[in-house]
Amino acid sequence: NRLVAYRGRFAPSPTGPLHFGSLVSALASYLDAKKYQGEWIVRLEDVDGTRCKAQYAEQILATLHSYELVSDSPVRIQSQHTNDYENFLHTLRSQGVLFPCNCTRQSLADYQGQHPHQCNSTIEQPHSWRLQTSSHHYRCQDAVQGTLSFCHALAENSPVLKRKDGYFSYQLAVVVDDHLQGITHLVRGADLIDTTAQQLHLYALFGWTAPYLCHIPLIVDRDGNKISKQNHAKAIQNGHLPTLIRALHYLHIRFDKTPDSIKSALTFAVQQWSPESLKGTLTIPLEEQDQHL
Ligand code: GLU
Repeated sequence: NRLVAYRGRFAPSPTGPLHFGSLVSALASYLDAKKYQGEWIVRLEDVDGTRCKAQYAEQILATLHSYELVSDSPVRIQSQHTNDYENFLHTLRSQGVLFPCNCTRQSLADYQGQHPHQCNSTIEQPHSWRLQTSSHHYRCQDAVQGTLSFCHALAENSPVLKRKDGYFSYQLAVVVDDHLQGITHLVRGADLIDTTAQQLHLYALFGWTAPYLCHIPLIVDRDGNKISKQNHAKAIQNGHLPTLIRALHYLHIRFDKTPDSIKSALTFAVQQWSPESLKGTLTIPLEEQDQHL
């Protein structure tokens, strides 16, 4: 695993079909990996059994495939690896950095859903496992966003790593999997910057090296909101060259002549890809002509 100099990934959560914004993210991670002759893998982040559906997982893989975005290793499906998350949860428990929590959403209402203190919960009642707050400051270099500095990100909240209903959190699963799969580079949407401090903290607790980071600008609607399943982003058409060209446009890939196939569009895009050209950009509004895609 560790011999590969570059291994990147696209890790969608199958809570809906692939939309235009997620195609842009998938492409960025793919182009970056291929630019460095790296491997690019797909992982289905379906730990949240209440929101993820097998039907969406299949649909996402079919759409990626139709754009010639094919994983270099078998697709890892998180819901089939809960033992791994249980084991690493156990590692953290033995370090004494977790605490059980019986708080309800209601009891945390005053804290905007955050959990700023250690509660006096017991393991006799149904409970989640939360990670203790920390005064650590994390700092890292991001290929597009420059220096990311997280000062109080960990001091005011104790994130859930395993829920009361038994499901593991994205935060734990993503770190464990990126580590187990030998991921060296994370190229993903800027909406995930908010999750980065907790992930860096988990890497530190496990004694693992965090991957290089690159947060690409997020495509937003007129009101500046992420285009997402929550605001009814449409599923993209499969294998549709004009959609691909428009998605690449947001990654600053400009074609002098229209490519004749998806494959040739991707080959050209790999040569042209330069994350530096996106430097410092957090969001890009969806252009009028792309509203229908
Ligand atoms: N599964 C996460 C999502 O779909 C992305 C994980 C990541 O790239 O770190 O939002």
